[in-house]
Amino acid sequence: MEKVIIIIFGLIVGSFLNVVIHRLPREQSIVIPGSHCPSCNTPIHFYDNIPVLSFLILMGKCRRCKARISMRYPLVELFTAFSFWLPYHFYFEELPVYAGFCVVFLCLLIALALIDLEHQLLPDELTLGGAVVFLIYAFFNPMVTPIAAIAASFGSALLFAGLYFFYLKVRKIEGLGQGDIKMMLLLGAFLGPDRLVIAVLLASFAGLLVGLFFIIFKGKNLKLKLPFGTFLSLGSYISLFWGHHIFDAIQSLYRI
Ligand SMILES: [Zn+2]
Repeated sequence: MEKVIIIIFGLIVGSFLNVVIHRLPREQSIVIPGSHCPSCNTPIHFYDNIPVLSFLILMGKCRRCKARISMRYPLVELFTAFSFWLPYHFYFEELPVYAGFCVVFLCLLIALALIDLEHQLLPDELTLGGAVVFLIYAFFNPMVTPIAAIAASFGSALLFAGLYFFYLKVRKIEGLGQGDIKMMLLLGAFLGPDRLVIAVLLASFAGLLVGLFFIIFKGKNLKLKLPFGTFLSLGSYISLFWGHHIFDAIQSLYRI
């Protein structure tokens, strides 16, 4: 029963995340007006706004104008529900508060990943707002000491800022966005140094693979811009749960 409530709650929050992902980069209010069809502007009734179910019943089309509704909406809802279930499964019994903060962290990652993918933008509300919340939580986080979390947060942001200015001065391109620097404040504050290193490694590796794919198969050149925030979100998502295992595995490789 508990699990069902967690998942339903996750679906509802996922529906809210869809609103954040759509409106925040367009600088629209997240609260008002209520949901409306982006094509015909008709307000969406509550019974047409039930996570996943309404999409299936309406077969992915607006009731009024029949415009297609993006698959992203039900997918974000389902993935958010999964992101509620994962921390519940791993941590809820022993560390319920930590599990709650994991959920908040994952929701931020989902929003950041999709906004960066679509708009090449990481809103300050999410990166800096999240960083403040998780820097305060660093003093209560059972997984990382406050000093380690604060060092990881500011240290990595400084490192990224250094890289940013290096690219700008030496290569005259924006290799990283300023949003990536602010995002490191958030990631470091919650993940701590070990899992942050793994998150950045995973992000770089995934970025490299996708970049190579586009260069080889889509004829893009090396100036290709990739949304690094999306890869950082992916890396952090994996690292939050499995980063320690990966970190230990890498360390044991060196001991042989
Ligand atoms: Zn419509």
